Amino acid sequence: MICVPKSTEIGNRFQAKRVKSVYTPVWMDALPHTIEPQTFYIIGKLGDPHYGVALRCPCGCGDAIAVEFAKHGAPITRFVLVTFQDGRVSLGPVLQKRDGCRSAITVKLNVAEAIY
Ligand SMILES: [Zn+2]
Repeated sequence: MICVPKSTEIGNRFQAKRVKSVYTPVWMDALPHTIEPQTFYIIGKLGDPHYGVALRCPCGCGDAIAVEFAKHGAPITRFVLVTFQDGRVSLGPVLQKRDGCRSAITVKLNVAEAIY
């Protein structure tokens, strides 16, 4: 017996778009007033009251995204920032934007990617 799909939905299938760009990691003590494009801000360090990251959405929408990993030293998210010996950084797991472009954002070895 051969199974034949009732209709082909390939033409209507959702096509995800991906945008990648290289970001420069910058270590700061506090969230900067201006979030520059293609810059990945790492605010504080593990154990600091407001440890977290900030960046502009890589999809091109321009939204500034700030994620606090910890409040008053206690972790509040499951995000992990990995800093490599060569200075490159990765962030995991996927950062899901809940408004605007609703991109899923990853940062791997300084390359930020938005899937939307
Ligand atoms: Zn976006």
